[in-house]
Amino acid sequence: ATRLLQPVAERIGFGAVGGLDEVKQQIRRRIITPFLKPTLFDRFRRRAGGGILMYGPPGCGKTLLARATAGECGATFLNVAISDVLDMYIGESERKLHALFEHARERAPAVIFFDEVEALGGKRQHSREAGTAKLVSQFLTELDGFAQGNNGVLVLGATNVPWAVDAAFRRPGRFDRVLFVPPPDQPAREQILRLELAGRPSEAGIDVASLARRTPGFSGADLRHLVETAVDEAIEESMDAGRECPLSMAHLERALGQLRPTTLEWLTTARNH
Ligand code: ATP
Repeated sequence: ATRLLQPVAERIGFGAVGGLDEVKQQIRRRIITPFLKPTLFDRFRRRAGGGILMYGPPGCGKTLLARATAGECGATFLNVAISDVLDMYIGESERKLHALFEHARERAPAVIFFDEVEALGGKRQHSREAGTAKLVSQFLTELDGFAQGNNGVLVLGATNVPWAVDAAFRRPGRFDRVLFVPPPDQPAREQILRLELAGRPSEAGIDVASLARRTPGFSGADLRHLVETAVDEAIEESMDAGRECPLSMAHLERALGQLRPTTLEWLTTARNH
């Protein structure tokens, strides 16, 4: 469990996340402000706490947002995939889970981010293993403890399969806010492309707005892939030429011709649930 909890070293803030203004605002109001101004919330007898569950297509910034939330709070970011906690040996998963929460407490202030929440709370009739129900109830107990005590640990969760998440997770004091993290719209795609291009040797003629217009359905991860594919070509050219050949619109156009958006399939599946 200790190995699972290596904090991510480099700290980032909301500026590193393109688009998602509404989600950022919600997280700021629900998590960051109460965390940074506890006395103000005490004065108004407004209880902070309760986790946020983010859902949406893969690669659209859930993990990035969680990391940026930690950065904004000046907290350690702890990233846990539920599949890493699940163990085939009876009792091992429970032990790992408890150790995870304990470690988070020791490292406070910390943001603990649970990815793949559905793997834990999957609708009980579909449970992957017989022990899952017990694990779910333990997870919920630990979660309840965090919502009540102000112990400097914030909990965020994420899933690509929100319809498979057990309703028990969404009760007050647990993941009581559920936020949709949508695929980036055109302005957000432009922002993400600019973030990805920043600091790389590039020609002046790159039309980022045009690329943003022509990439509907691309996730943030798809856009990153687009830039990296183009960058690889620029690097290869530079190797061949024996001098630095900056990234050009032509590189990006060729990369775009090779790639397809990945969020459309998810949106179709989600619509059928
Ligand atoms: P998954 O559901 O697969 O875990 P996710 O929603 O957590 O995906 P991230 O891991 O946050 O997605 O995104 C993957 C990568 O894509 C990020 O590290 C980043 O490079 C890029 N990316 C995605 N969304 C954004 C965004 N809104 N702004 C900037 N970069 C983004």
